[in-house]
Amino acid sequence: MGLTPSCPRCRTSLDRRNQNEPGAELDSWICPGCDGRFLAESDLQRIEETVEPVVLELRRIPDAEDQQRILGCPVCEPAEPMEKFEHHRDHRVVLDRCPSCRGVWLDGGELTAIQQESLPVFLVGSARYFLSLLK
Ligand SMILES: [Zn+2]
Ligand SMILES: [Zn+2]
Repeated sequence: MGLTPSCPRCRTSLDRRNQNEPGAELDSWICPGCDGRFLAESDLQRIEETVEPVVLELRRIPDAEDQQRILGCPVCEPAEPMEKFEHHRDHRVVLDRCPSCRGVWLDGGELTAIQQESLPVFLVGSARYFLSLLK
């Protein structure tokens, strides 16, 4: 990837965030404009395996029309159209996945929906780093 990637929703330049903690490395792109995030599909699966859901927070999810808009992958050149898929924990959450680099785009509200957890979960081991993902 050459130039700084820009947000597939609002075109703001994405900020790179590297988190390196033992057992909890995460490399992602964050949009300061809409709070969307782009991360590897394998990292998303790791997050989901570590944290068990208690409650899904759905208020901030973009409306259905916005969710169905095809987005271009922020890191592939040229931008690869991303595929829509429903999150396995809540079919109202629609995520975008790049078929080329296997990156996943999460809208701001989507990440909250997937990661909303009870406090005790956060106190356990490597789940610590989720705190820094939730603002
Ligand atoms: Zn954005
Ligand atoms: Zn891609």
